Amino acid sequence: MSRFSAAIVRNAVADHLPHALVLLSFVLVGCRNPETLSKGATLHREAQIWQPWVTYLSGEQYSRLHVEIDYVQGCKPRPQTLVELRKFLQENLDKPDGIVIVVDPPITKVTARASHPRLLALRSIDGPPNHSDTDPTAYLHVLFYDSTIFDEEPTTKLQPHVRLIPYPASVYIDKDYWSFVGDKAEEGFLLHEIGHVLGLVHTLDHGDGVHCHDPSCIMYPNIRFSFWKWITFQNPIARRNLCEGCRTDLLRAPQKYGTGKSRWMGPVLMRVEDGYCVASLPGTVMLWFGAPEKFDVQAHRDGVDVHSDLFDIIRHRNGVVTAWTVDPMYWDGKDLPKAVQNAQSDPWSIVRNIASEKEDRIIESALPERL
Ligand SMILES: [Zn+2]
Ligand SMILES: [Zn+2]
Repeated sequence: MSRFSAAIVRNAVADHLPHALVLLSFVLVGCRNPETLSKGATLHREAQIWQPWVTYLSGEQYSRLHVEIDYVQGCKPRPQTLVELRKFLQENLDKPDGIVIVVDPPITKVTARASHPRLLALRSIDGPPNHSDTDPTAYLHVLFYDSTIFDEEPTTKLQPHVRLIPYPASVYIDKDYWSFVGDKAEEGFLLHEIGHVLGLVHTLDHGDGVHCHDPSCIMYPNIRFSFWKWITFQNPIARRNLCEGCRTDLLRAPQKYGTGKSRWMGPVLMRVEDGYCVASLPGTVMLWFGAPEKFDVQAHRDGVDVHSDLFDIIRHRNGVVTAWTVDPMYWDGKDLPKAVQNAQSDPWSIVRNIASEKEDRIIESALPERL
C-alpha cells in the first residue's frame, strides 16, 4: 500500500540553529499521485468486505497474536525495531493472552535468489505452533529481504508494502530501499505498513482513505529525512507516533465493524461465506467448498506451490495464484450448484472468476458417478 516513491524534495531551512548554520531537511515523498491513491482506496474498499483488522484489534475472538518474522541472510531486523514493534502492538491491540514475536532462522540467499517476495513469504510462513481451527491466535507475518538478490531483477526497487488482497497479513520490507541510511528507516517503514494491516486509514476525516494528513503521524505517506542529522551521524529519520485520530480509529474499529467475516486457520486467513470459504495465503486464493474447520492448510500451500498439478491452478496476470477444491460433504452433488452460484456473486472479482470459469469442472468433480 505504501508506495514510497523515490522523489526527494528539499523541504525546509533551519530557523533555530546558531551561526546561521543551515539545516537541510528532505522529505521522501510517496502515495501522492492520484492513480496510486485511487487504487489504494479501492483496495481498502475491497478489504472492508471482510475486515481482517478486527482479528487484531479485538480480543474477543482472537485473544492472542503470533507475529512471525522471516528474513533473508543479511537482512535481519535490528533489535530496536523489534522492541518498537512489540511496544506498538501492545499499545494498540487488545490481546489479553499475549503477543508472541518469533524471528525464524534466516532464509539462505541461494533459496531466496530463485524466488520473489510473495513466493518467499508463502514458502517461509509457518503460522502459530500447533494451530487448530479453535486456536484463538491471530497471525501476522513480516518478511525482510533485499530485492537486489533476486534472479529476476525488478525494474524498480520494491518499496515497503502490504497487499491487502488477497492476503492482508504479510508485510514486505525491502532492505535495499533507502539502504543509504542503513537500517534506520526500517522501524518507520515497518510500523507504517503494520498500520495498514490494522486497517488504517479508512476515514476521510483526517486522511485520504489510505494515509493520514497529520505530518507527525506514522500513517503520513512520507518519511521525513534530515540531511543535517545524517551528516552529523545522528538518526536522520524523524520519529513518529500514531496521531490521536488514528488511535481513535483503532480503538473504535471493533465496535464499528463487529466481529467481521475473517477467521484464522493457523497462517491462513479465511472468509466464511454461504456454502463456501475463501482462504488466502500470500499471493494465493483457494476457493474451498466445504466447512471452514475441515480446510487443509498444508494442502493449500503445497497445492499452489510445490504440487500444483494437484489442483486446477489459475495464474493471474497480477501474480496471484488461485485454485478451488471441494469437500466430500458435497459429493452427493446436491448442494454444490447453489454454493457455486453463491461464489459467483462473491464481492471479490477473483473469486467470482474462478466460480464462473470453472463452474462445470467444480460441479462435475462432485458428481457421484465420477467418484
Ligand atoms: Zn502507506
Ligand atoms: Zn494519523
